[in-house]
Amino acid sequence: MIQEISGLAEVKASLYEILKRGRLSHAYLFHGVEGTAALPMLWGFLHLLFCEAKTDEGLSCGQCVSCRKIAKWIHSDVHVFPPLPHIKGGGKQAIQRQTAQYAELWRRFIRSHPYGSYENWFSFLQSELGTNLGALSVGRREIDGLLSVASLSPYEGKYTCLVIWLPEYLHHASLNALLKTVEDPPSRTLFFFVSQKPEQIPPTLYSRFQPVSIRPFTRSELVQELVKRENIDPTRAEEIAGLSSGRYTQATHLLNMEEEAPQQNRSSHPNVYNWLRTCWKGDYVELHGQSEWFQKQSLLQQQGFFFLALHLLREVLLSQAGADSLFCFPGNLHVFAVNLSKTLSHTDMIKLYQVLQDVLRHLEQHAESRLLFLDSSLKVVSIFNRTRQVHQSR
Ligand SMILES: [Zn+2]
Repeated sequence: MIQEISGLAEVKASLYEILKRGRLSHAYLFHGVEGTAALPMLWGFLHLLFCEAKTDEGLSCGQCVSCRKIAKWIHSDVHVFPPLPHIKGGGKQAIQRQTAQYAELWRRFIRSHPYGSYENWFSFLQSELGTNLGALSVGRREIDGLLSVASLSPYEGKYTCLVIWLPEYLHHASLNALLKTVEDPPSRTLFFFVSQKPEQIPPTLYSRFQPVSIRPFTRSELVQELVKRENIDPTRAEEIAGLSSGRYTQATHLLNMEEEAPQQNRSSHPNVYNWLRTCWKGDYVELHGQSEWFQKQSLLQQQGFFFLALHLLREVLLSQAGADSLFCFPGNLHVFAVNLSKTLSHTDMIKLYQVLQDVLRHLEQHAESRLLFLDSSLKVVSIFNRTRQVHQSR
């Protein structure tokens, strides 16, 4: 429900205003970068739209039949279309079976990952189905399904709601048919796009939607949200939030990362600190071992690893620029960051930063992770070596 999302008061106020005026537009685009509350906010909005027993303050009750169905994403007037793997051939029944299976998987996914990204969804499907999926998209078949639902009258409630989660993955073959229906929608049908990359939605379609923009959380909002959902103590939440740029998924990357690497000093199980230390020593044998460990991690954990490294460097850059913000890091990582900021030149720091950014980009494109890890480690080693030579020649 909307009141369960921390902060974002101005976004909530704009949604209450829409409902108060009672004149709904037929198409809304909830958008915010990955890790913002775009989907939770729409989820909350749907509660408000369907609740049968709103409180005196105009909030959803959370108890009525509609609220309970919305909470589980099983309301018969709400249809969600996420990017899916291509369904290969098979008869009509086989396709229906598969579609139903995907729908159930998405419900499970979103209940456990309300802030989920395309990457999270992809990894989730991959581990559930255990196959190589190929790219996901909202394809022609899904849009045909959507169009046939669009023409139905609402079954239980006042509206038929069609939600496309991540419309940036719409397949071009489905655009025209969708555009036509959005331009001339059946009465009592509402379209909702929930996008993390709205700039990738074709302008002809984009322009039909009323935008609802969701900003990243403030630091204190994110702390509240982490304490509530991840069940961690406020001090830890403060640390994590300080590294997450207001984005929930970034915070959970970091949390996963910490949980994955509890033993600080085992080289077979490196954390960011050990990895950077190994690069500093130029210990290739150990790096090789670490790359094998890295390969065995999930994509999420791999990204978490480099997110943390990237954040460390960003804070070091900031501290070199005079903003002393290194306090966010615990223990030995803090010491290492301080040493790094005193040792590396600004130019070298920028180079390091770029190496890490490249890794994250390549991970997103599903590059071979072990080679990527080794390759970036070698680049980091060479930057460190140069620094050492400069210091020795002084
Ligand atoms: Zn209710």
